[in-house]
Amino acid sequence: MPEMIYRMLGKTGLKVSILGFGASPLGNEFGQIDPAEGIRAVHYAIERGLNYFDVAPYYGRTLAETRLGEALAGYRDKVILATKVGRYGKDLETGFDFSANRVTRSVEESLTRLQTDYLDIFQVHDIEFGQWEQLIHETLPTMYQLKQAGKVRFVGITGYALHLLKAVAEVAEIDVILSYCHYNLMDTSLDDVLMPVARQKDIGLINASPLHMRVLTETGAPAWHPAPKKVMEVGRQIADYCRSRGLDIAELAMQFALQHPHVATTLVGMSQVREVELNLNSVGITPDPDLLAEVQAMIKPVANIAWREGRPENYAPNAVEKQS
Ligand code: NAD
Repeated sequence: MPEMIYRMLGKTGLKVSILGFGASPLGNEFGQIDPAEGIRAVHYAIERGLNYFDVAPYYGRTLAETRLGEALAGYRDKVILATKVGRYGKDLETGFDFSANRVTRSVEESLTRLQTDYLDIFQVHDIEFGQWEQLIHETLPTMYQLKQAGKVRFVGITGYALHLLKAVAEVAEIDVILSYCHYNLMDTSLDDVLMPVARQKDIGLINASPLHMRVLTETGAPAWHPAPKKVMEVGRQIADYCRSRGLDIAELAMQFALQHPHVATTLVGMSQVREVELNLNSVGITPDPDLLAEVQAMIKPVANIAWREGRPENYAPNAVEKQS
């Protein structure tokens, strides 16, 4: 049975498992789950050495936090618990509130749902949906006050738009950054855009969506996936190719993402013991270099394609129109 590997989360002093538990599926984000199996998956993950759990009020519109809180009853001291603030819905107009007032209420609501009196990591959820002035002068300062008050241990930001995560990291005191869909087989732009500032300021890096939101799985991407069709097509080709070589594409994708030495933890969404087991199989495994090189050559024409997320003023300069 492979041993878990741990890495330092920036300068927080926290040692986190390189495989982190993404709890969004616990909120039925991707279809109904069996809640009892979700709880078993959390317990099994802890037993096998996973100690990083990521959730948000947005996932299942509070359901994921409630279920994770139930699962962690009696286990709180064994885990590093991260949640978020500012995102509560899907739409730009109605789904977000980054005000000081909402931050203060939100943390109390999350603590209640998670059945705890402190959070390890408290993050602004999807900063590209916010406005710079408010984020820098209202949202983050309120979060720093909560840190001072001992409600949260560390403050971070999350999002898709790498250039914006970088810009905030340059001017604000951030302990951790969660970036998604920017370090996996399809897209490695995290390395070019965010890594230099993160390393220079010793900010803990959390990489989510190592399966590129299911492009890199046997079942393939959901209909709502925002990447252009050509990305999905290549996803199918490499899934077929890996299968013909006797490997599930998701396994190669996990092996690849988990190897990054400067990413503290890689988050993948899980709600079943079987999924935890599958992803644990990739911990500490070096991808077959020949297969990896072949797959990367197939991906090259569609590598690093970013899509538009958030407010128009926050779109990355190179981002394309969303497909869905
Ligand atoms: P996800 O939560 O979007 O879901 C991953 C899906 O892949 C799930 O449906 C799961 O059933 C499936 N899966 C898991 N392991 C698999 C495997 N080995 N083979 C095939 N399918 C598998 O996952 P994600 O996009 O990887 O995101 C991970 C987590 O990161 C989220 O749950 C969330 O906690 C966090 N996240 C945060 C942000 C943000 O803060 N802005 C954005 C994206 C993700």
